[in-house]
This record gives sequence, C-alpha cells and structure tokens, in this order.
Amino acid sequence: MGRVSSQLRHDYKPGRSLSDRKIPRLRLFLVPAILLLGTVLLISLNDAGGTLHSPKAVSSGGPFGGIQTLEVALPRKASGELSSIQPDTEVHGPVEHDIGHETAGAPEETDPGEAPEASALPEGETLALRIKPGDTLDRLFRRQGLSLADLATMLEVKEARNALAVIKPGDEIQVVHNGPKVLALTRELSEELTIRVLRDGDAFSVDFLADPVERRIAHARGQIKTSLFEAGSDAGMSDTLIMNLAGVFAWDVDFALEIREGDSFSLVYEEVWQDERRLRDGDVLAAEFINQGRVYRAVRYRDPNGKVDYYTPEGLSVRKAFLRAPLDFNRVSSNFNPNRLHPILKTKRPHKGVDYAAPKGTPVKAAGDGRVIFRGRNGGYGNCVIIQHGGNITTLYAHLSKFAGSARKGSRVSQGQTIGYVGATGLATAPHLHYEYRLNGVHRNPRTVPLPEAAPVAAEYRDDFLQAARPLLAQLDAITPTRLARAD
Ligand SMILES: [Zn+2]
Repeated sequence: MGRVSSQLRHDYKPGRSLSDRKIPRLRLFLVPAILLLGTVLLISLNDAGGTLHSPKAVSSGGPFGGIQTLEVALPRKASGELSSIQPDTEVHGPVEHDIGHETAGAPEETDPGEAPEASALPEGETLALRIKPGDTLDRLFRRQGLSLADLATMLEVKEARNALAVIKPGDEIQVVHNGPKVLALTRELSEELTIRVLRDGDAFSVDFLADPVERRIAHARGQIKTSLFEAGSDAGMSDTLIMNLAGVFAWDVDFALEIREGDSFSLVYEEVWQDERRLRDGDVLAAEFINQGRVYRAVRYRDPNGKVDYYTPEGLSVRKAFLRAPLDFNRVSSNFNPNRLHPILKTKRPHKGVDYAAPKGTPVKAAGDGRVIFRGRNGGYGNCVIIQHGGNITTLYAHLSKFAGSARKGSRVSQGQTIGYVGATGLATAPHLHYEYRLNGVHRNPRTVPLPEAAPVAAEYRDDFLQAARPLLAQLDAITPTRLARAD
C-alpha cells in the first residue's frame, strides 16, 4: 500500500495538473495549423492566378489576417449536403464552388466561366464581432458604426431573423462592410452549418454552408505503470477520453485509490472528423478494464427509445446506486494509511471510512441519489454532509471547506451532484475528504461493500442489444491480448 501511495503522490504532483498538461499539446497542434493555413493561402493564390477563381477571397481580408482563413475556408463547405440538413430552407444565390476538389487534380470537371465570384464574400473590411454580456445586435452595430438600417433590412429575411434571434456572450458574428454599409454577415450556427447573409442590391439574401462531421472508429489499449493518465496518454488518448473511460467504470473501480501497476485497458471509441481534420474524441463504444485481475467490460447501447447507457456484455447496467469514489480520481493525490496514529490525537483509532487527499476546493459528489439529512459543523468531522439513501443507507462527507448551495438540509440530491468542496475543517491536518458508508447504521467499507445495481436492458430490447453489442465486443477482442479465463 505504501509503495502505491508514493507512486500516486509522485505521479500527481501539483505541476502536472490537467490544465498544465494541455499546453504542450496545444503548441504541437498550432504548428501543423499554421502550416495548413499557409498551404491553404498558397493554394488559393495559385487558384486565383490560374483559373480566375475567387481572386477576392485573398485580397478582401484587409488588415484582419485571421479573417482571411475564414473566407478561404468557407467555400470548401459542401453545399450539396444542404438539402439533407435544412429541408425547409430555400437556397438563394449561386452554387458554391469547391476549391479543395479542384486542386485535388480534376480541373477538367470544372468550368471556370461559371459563377466566378460565387465562393467569395464581397470586397470590404471584415470584422469579427464577439458578443459581450448585455449585447444586442443593435448595440453591436452601433458600437462598430455599422448601418442600423442595414441591420433592419437583413432581419426582414426570415432565415436571417431566425439565425440571429438568440445571441449569447462569446458568440461570434463576422461582418464584411464598407464604412457603415454592410455587405455580408456570416454566423456559424453549429459545428456543421454556417449562414451567410449577402447584400443583393438594396436587399439581402441568405445561403447556408453545410460542413458535416464524420465519426470514425478508433482503438486504444494500454497497461498502467504509474497512472491511468500516463498509460492513456502513451496510448494516444486525450485527457477527455481518459476521463470518459474512467467514467464508464466509475461504479466498479475506485480510480482514485485502487489502480495498480499492471492494470490494463482497451477500448473502441469514436473520433469526430471534419474536412479530413480530427476535431475531437467522441464516445467510448466498448471498453475493458482489468483492475487487480478483475475484468470489467462495458458496451454503449442506444435502445429504440433513444435511451443511451453502458451495459455489461450480458446486458446488465454498469451503473450502481453508489459511486465507488465520490470525487474525480484525477484530483486525488494519495491514500492515507488507515492504521495510522490519528495525526492530531496521536492515538490509534479505528478508521471507519476512506480518506481521499485532494486539493482544497475539489468538488465532492453525492455518491448516490438521496436526501440531505445533516449539513453543518459536526465535531472532529468539521463541515459535514450526511445523505440518507434508499435501503437504509447513509453516506457521510467530512472536513469540507464549504458546502454547495444546492445541497441544503432537506433537499434531494442526485448521484454525481456536487454537495461540497474538499477542505481541512475539524480534526484534519491537510485537505482531504473523509467518506463513510453506513448500512442500517453500521459502517461498511465503501470500497468493497456490494452495491445495488441499476436496471438492465429492457427485456423487449435484449435481442437488439445483443446484436448491437456483438460487433463492438468482437473489435474489443481483436485488440485485447488473449487470455485463458475471463472473470466477467
Ligand atoms: Zn478519515
């Protein structure tokens, strides 16, 4: 136990917090992004010189360097997909021209004489307007000295009105203008759809650019030497994907305290791609985790009613009425020795719970659904919350620095809801969570007590589930080393 504790402490030293770890990756990403930007601009320049296409796509950016990429990138979106996404929308304006397709080596299929200006936004200055708290379109236009009459005219077009009806802080709207006169406005409506409002004489017309994302299947596997994060990172997994993998097994495995060297995992998951670019990791589709020799497997399943959850290969829910650990494992720095002398009283006291050392302020979650029956100061426990659950089970959370506003005495809480924050109130020398689980008033070890299970796949969907799970489990088998016996 002591050896593992020191490994954990080593691995989770403060300098390696989650946010710190992301910085080098971002830099790595920026290098290809800048190279790509350069390539796109070069392609466009060649394109403009050779075929008379879109000369303004490059020249219209003015001093706004970042905007040029947007103008070049927009026409790459495949407007041919439009009808499947916006069946009720009438498409105005000419068909978009696909620069990427043309430069890919099929120039004979395109006719340079057709719609030479189709892919370019009008020439003018480009503004990227970021919405601030309290902003309205009116205020935004006034601040930039843009014509309010043009805004009113744009909003006469139904699609434009709908697309601009809701704006919230952080949103971005691009405007191409010539002095106060608005020439075009674009807004990304979703990851897959952008609206463009284009000046058309004294009026405005609207078109939509669709850029669908694609989900690809990917695999990863790894073996733990020091930590799940390190093994996952070595396997090419993002931090989010690692957390999602841990989330699938959070009811069976205490990732904060029970991970051992030699534990292993494999998973089948989705990656989200757009324009041959990987945007992010998607859902975990199937996964296996071997913790101290025990094998856990889970498959993601969406039943015909649209309910999505993870199940064992037999169709049992992986969820339990209680989480094994009531806080995120990546914040926990070390285990405490349960047979220790009490650090303040200097006597050996039976320890009736689990201690998780974590930074002050780490959110503490309700381990299961229930009702808060105590919240306040409680002797050596310091700031303490007690939750009453079904089946005459109570859970207790001690030494909190503060309470969550939504978890007052008498209020109902659901599993995973934040009820307070790690602290060192009461008899505690350092910030940690002391967690107890009592059944019929008797303390039980929360890490080993058998937990009630959630509902399995509904009987009428069982065949559908088995059919959906089979190929995913086969993929999992294909990437998992063979073994003689399986414990599941
Ligand atoms: Zn304790």
